[in-house]
Amino acid sequence: MFSKHIRSVQAITKYIRITEEIRLMHQNKKPKHVEKYYVDTLPGSCVKTFKFSDYDCIGFDLDNTVARYKIGAMMEMEYEILAKHMVQKGYSKKHLFKGIEKDFLLKGLIVDNDNGNVLKIAADGRILVATHGTKLLSDEEIQQYYPNFHWEPTDLFAKDPLHTWNGPYSEKMRTLLDYFDIVASLIYARAVDSIDEERGKPGTNYKIWPDLLEALQQMFNRDHFQQGKGVFFSKMKSSPEKYYHKCSEDLTNWLKSLKDNNKLLFLITGAYVDFASLTASTALGPNWKDYFDIIITYAKKPGFFTQERPFIGLNGYKETSPVYFEDLKVGGIYTHGNWKDLRKFLSKHSESQNPKFVYIGDNLIQDIYTPSVHSHCDTVAVCEELQAEGLNGHDSLHPDKPFLKSSIWGSYFQYKSYGTNWYQILKDHSKICVPSLEYIAKFPLKHEHQCII
Ligand SMILES: [Mg+2]
Repeated sequence: MFSKHIRSVQAITKYIRITEEIRLMHQNKKPKHVEKYYVDTLPGSCVKTFKFSDYDCIGFDLDNTVARYKIGAMMEMEYEILAKHMVQKGYSKKHLFKGIEKDFLLKGLIVDNDNGNVLKIAADGRILVATHGTKLLSDEEIQQYYPNFHWEPTDLFAKDPLHTWNGPYSEKMRTLLDYFDIVASLIYARAVDSIDEERGKPGTNYKIWPDLLEALQQMFNRDHFQQGKGVFFSKMKSSPEKYYHKCSEDLTNWLKSLKDNNKLLFLITGAYVDFASLTASTALGPNWKDYFDIIITYAKKPGFFTQERPFIGLNGYKETSPVYFEDLKVGGIYTHGNWKDLRKFLSKHSESQNPKFVYIGDNLIQDIYTPSVHSHCDTVAVCEELQAEGLNGHDSLHPDKPFLKSSIWGSYFQYKSYGTNWYQILKDHSKICVPSLEYIAKFPLKHEHQCII
């Protein structure tokens, strides 16, 4: 009992010190001590240490990693586009044209296609919170759908997220992973509400997802960027300042300092080269390509890390022909490709005999789980929710906090004493979890980051 008391006093003292250090960092004042990121204090959490100077090849995702979006403005625009599409398909205006309910949004929710439910799950797949449409379900109601709070597709997903990525389980459930698609959870839930209203009671066998998937595919159709069609790309092109943050000088200097220290920098993005150019040039400036030694666009993650698709060359925005490993060039820009060849290319050009690789991204399946499990590449997770939730010392002054934080679903990281499946991926597959690259850029490369997760 006594030693438990001592431990808790030590923990509180340490927590206060770390909190103060992080507060100073947010004010651009350097703390005297090493800073730490406290994700939470769930059982089994441990301290991880990490230094960028230990790595030779440093990779970056683009969207929501190097380039930060003004998430609220973007999600409002996405909601409007998807809602219009669904109404054109015959769904109820009354439900879908209501204003966006920010509190319903949370990254990482899962849609149960048949039952009309939206779910938040634990590391072992247990259903922690669920709604039918937008209506929150009680524990008893959850158990009527999912005996003992478990459902086969989400149990499989929790064990291996790639298991349900394609194939029959992807028909049953959909994960909404980042700020490009999380508004789909609200659209889906409101479509369920409208069908229930017509039917007079909740049912099953909702056939909403195919229509919603069509709306998402239409919104992000890569041909639309150059054709000037569609609303999403037109708005991003015409008002980039409304949807993107510019990278600070701290961050551009930090990227330069990596190069000055003989690190090889690579960019792997899922966006096609035209949209990626808009995003990167808005965030980093017109010379954005100079920051990287090789750029891969339209990489089709997570397959990039698990398959062996060839790289395709580019002539401007037009794809040319396959480019084999031997012909990849420093300063080159490509589409498709695969990690195995990229790794060989980076090893060939690295000054180190035995180079170490790290990849930084925000999408926990595409950027963290898959490279960690299938490519044995270390990863750093960018998670804006750390700041939005004001966890353990972060200032919680995130400008789009109402879109990232939810009182309906609770924390992105935990629920009561359970860690979420996302928390578990961060814990098992990332070296460190940070709220933004801007935050990291305030530290020198040799700085030892410590992450308690
Ligand atoms: Mg991303």
